[in-house]
Amino acid sequence: MLVSAGSWEGQRPKVISTWRNTLANAAAWEILQAGGYALDAVEAGARVPEANPDDMSVGYGGLPDRDGFVTLDASIMDEKSNCGSVAFVQGYKHVISVARRVMEKTPHVMLVGKGAEQFAAAQGFRREKLLTPQAEKAWREWLKKSEYKPYHRPGQHDTIGILALDSKGCICGACTTSGMAFKMHGRVGDSPIIGAGLYVDGEVGAATATGVGEEMIRIAGSHTVVELMRQGYSPQLACEEAVKRVIRKRGEEKAKSLGVAFIAMNLSGQTGAYSTTNDFEYTVSAPGILHEVFKSSSYF
Ligand code: ASP
Repeated sequence: MLVSAGSWEGQRPKVISTWRNTLANAAAWEILQAGGYALDAVEAGARVPEANPDDMSVGYGGLPDRDGFVTLDASIMDEKSNCGSVAFVQGYKHVISVARRVMEKTPHVMLVGKGAEQFAAAQGFRREKLLTPQAEKAWREWLKKSEYKPYHRPGQHDTIGILALDSKGCICGACTTSGMAFKMHGRVGDSPIIGAGLYVDGEVGAATATGVGEEMIRIAGSHTVVELMRQGYSPQLACEEAVKRVIRKRGEEKAKSLGVAFIAMNLSGQTGAYSTTNDFEYTVSAPGILHEVFKSSSYF
């Protein structure tokens, strides 16, 4: 159902996620409504699409790169600026939990490729095949033309970025993806880059992104949104300014073909969302409004 923002603004606990992620929000909500921690909530939420083979942009069932390999990126960040991320990971679907282990069990922020996989194995994660018949079929179809260009899939669920504010006022975020479909082997997007696909500042709020990751990296997008909120922008105006910054850098003509979207939440539980294209949706859970899907405003 599409509803408009209203009395639920400014309440807590609260969850906001990119796209139509009602089941992810429900998993996060279960933790929050029991008085749980926002970090546990965002991890639980992100694990839902990671395990769903029908979700072809996250985790198991994600579309592969142009050589047929499913490679995953994820990041997680808490209210104290602790953060962890993994990139270019093959064979482990719950990369959000691997990212959390990087944050909690290593002195590092980011592990990539083979090193991240070795770490996942050492932490007891189970290695499995992530390419489903459905994703392989889509890849074989793509191979017929092998037209390599980043694209945005209107109306389809994409990367999940999820932000939660718990009843104690802690804000945390997570982001997980299989990245751009049919990307070059080794390509890493914005989602595991702290400050690009995800950023959290416990004194200000949090932001996360979906769309063409190269654009978010170029403007350190999620960090930009949080810094704008620090300067007094509402979450909505901060998301709008970050999207407009991408458009100014790329020019309107090129930006029209670039799906770029941000969602944000501040410590008062106010939320914002804005996109280049008019197909972006996001999902909110708060007392009295459970897992409702909203249509984002957009530039084009
Ligand atoms: N931002 C992701 C990436 O560039 C893709 C997406 O959101 O669909 O890897």
